Amino acid sequence: MDQDKRDLLKGLILFIPAGGVIGALAKAVAAPAAAAGKEASARPETPGYDPTNHYYGMGIEVGKCIGCNRCVEACKQENDVPREPFFFRTWVERYVIKKDRSVVVETVGLKKEKRKEVVDQEDTLRSFFIPKLCNHCANPPCVQVCPVDATWSTEDGAVLVDKNRCIGCRYCIQACPYGARYLHPETRTADKCTFCYHRVVKGLLPACVEVCPTQARIFGDLKSQASRLVRFERMNKIHVLKPDLNTQPKVYYSGLDGEVR
Ligand code: SF4
Ligand code: SF4
Repeated sequence: MDQDKRDLLKGLILFIPAGGVIGALAKAVAAPAAAAGKEASARPETPGYDPTNHYYGMGIEVGKCIGCNRCVEACKQENDVPREPFFFRTWVERYVIKKDRSVVVETVGLKKEKRKEVVDQEDTLRSFFIPKLCNHCANPPCVQVCPVDATWSTEDGAVLVDKNRCIGCRYCIQACPYGARYLHPETRTADKCTFCYHRVVKGLLPACVEVCPTQARIFGDLKSQASRLVRFERMNKIHVLKPDLNTQPKVYYSGLDGEVR
């Protein structure tokens, strides 16, 4: 879809409420242009790779994460994520449980002056690190709200964004309950983790998994009994984030503290 069409659609969709008859009208206007864009923005295909043979997910062994942020750096480099501090495809949160039982959460790598609260060691009961990223939900609200089908679920379990079709309306950013999407400041389209799909289809690991020095991140194919992820799931008590929302995340945590949201 060319930029003029994208701007027109974005104008229509942003100025017309999403619900009701008028919302339906906006979607109807959007549909032919989106369909026309389908050919130009073909979804990724790799010769010799059959997505129906795989179904990917990621494991996080919380106790192993040391908060070194190497995964975040590797992701930024691999995927051209803007260097500014508030754009992430993956990020690491430090949870501090204070002696008064209150909880302080901060993103690792932020300068001290940008933090909401710096907790003194003597006030800290315990602390731990939680790597976060798009959960590649099996029931993804971000996909459901996109008015132009620019974001979709692949057969092998990734949720991707087609930046040629995205009109930057931010509906998906608002719909994601995990804060996993942002609007790319240069392309003005939605951006997020892809599980490094371009690497995975070639048999490589996502960049964040490859660089993790403690193997706190585990990537694998849920259809393969031999995969590290399947073994990890078998041997640990697994939790997902915000299970009550029925998004069916495919990022699985072991050792997750009840305070983590
Ligand atoms: Fe969509 Fe957010 Fe789920 Fe990722 S974590 S699939 S962006 S709803
Ligand atoms: Fe809007 Fe997100 Fe779809 Fe882009 S991917 S068009 S920002 S809902």
